[in-house]
Amino acid sequence: MSEALMPTYARAELAFERGEGPYLFATDGRRYLDFAAGIAVNALGHSHPHLVSALKDQAEKLWHCSNLYRIPAGERLAERLCEQSFAERVFFSNSGAEALECGFKLIRKYHDDTGNPGRYKVIGCQGSFHGRTLATLSAAGNPKYLEGFRPEVPGFVQVAFGNMNELRAAIDDETAAILVEPIQGEGGIRAAEIDYMKALRRVCDEFGLLLLLDEVQCGMGRTGKLFAHEWAEIAPDVMALAKGLGGGFPIGACLATEKAAVGMTVGTHGSTFGGNPLAMAVANAVLDVMLAEGFLEGVQKTGDLLRARLEELAARHPAVLAGSRGRGLMLGLECVVPAGEMVARLRDEGLLTVGAAENVVRIVPPLIIGEAQVAEALAILERVSAGWAEAA
Ligand SMILES: *Cc1c(COP(=O)(O)O)cnc(C)c1O
Repeated sequence: MSEALMPTYARAELAFERGEGPYLFATDGRRYLDFAAGIAVNALGHSHPHLVSALKDQAEKLWHCSNLYRIPAGERLAERLCEQSFAERVFFSNSGAEALECGFKLIRKYHDDTGNPGRYKVIGCQGSFHGRTLATLSAAGNPKYLEGFRPEVPGFVQVAFGNMNELRAAIDDETAAILVEPIQGEGGIRAAEIDYMKALRRVCDEFGLLLLLDEVQCGMGRTGKLFAHEWAEIAPDVMALAKGLGGGFPIGACLATEKAAVGMTVGTHGSTFGGNPLAMAVANAVLDVMLAEGFLEGVQKTGDLLRARLEELAARHPAVLAGSRGRGLMLGLECVVPAGEMVARLRDEGLLTVGAAENVVRIVPPLIIGEAQVAEALAILERVSAGWAEAA
């Protein structure tokens, strides 16, 4: 690897030249089944014709003009996101961490504007991941990522994920909001219980707190609903999106109710690139596909099938695999053997996956896969698991 790059990633010795649907082609011509999808980003696979044409059309017209002027495609995208969700206001950024930063600022401003300037603390959950900026690292509180980067940004505390008693005990006069991933991604595909999600909404209402959901990874159709919190039939006050929203083009979005966004007036926030015409064109094209009749039902169906196959696989190889977890096409394979080594062996056999905490292999394929790709992935998983069990 070139020494010109800061060596912040442990990259595999592999480079890709092109992608087509759920497949990636390496520079040596080898084909890989991509069940990593750029870490849950390429929601519609690679080179989706509708996305390619949206990007090409826009590229020939206008790339960037700044937020000093109206951007019609951004207005349209914001209106569509609102129509499909609890939200009434949207701010566009370029990444997940920036979408959360907007959320953090909105939370402080909301309480400041509504007579509670002393309320600024956000209660988050252990095991979560919100990005790599100082504020998002502080919000997640993962000591591994904070090491050497302290002091933390003040105003963030964490409690055990799923534990309502701990959460209630952490609320004080300075608490402003609760921040939760409905399904923790990097944390190991840990899904919040439906009752927990409902209880979060109730406790926020009881104490006048804002509920900020981080759906950067679990949102945009990944679980078989457009947003993961829909499974709990609750609505947050604020939500961060990114990853799948652009299908591979960088974009983030912070969605909020009109009430929560009351303080986000002219001059309070901004982004040079956020909401640029290229990103807006692609994200609108992503929505065209995801909102088409039957798309999300298809994700649920394929997700259920894949999950069932993974359970059977784990049952056949108890010395290698412990089980599966997750919802829709946001799945985790619980490993007995080291998950990192499993990811490497699967890659050698032509299947791309991603590691996560709790010794879990993340399986986050493009949402466009069908039974054929499930079968293809299972054949590789079976081969690797059987080979491992034999060698042991
Ligand atoms: C990836 C991720 C982020 C950070 O997104 P970036 O675009 O890398 O800043 C935040 N929250 C969750 C849940 C994520 O999975």
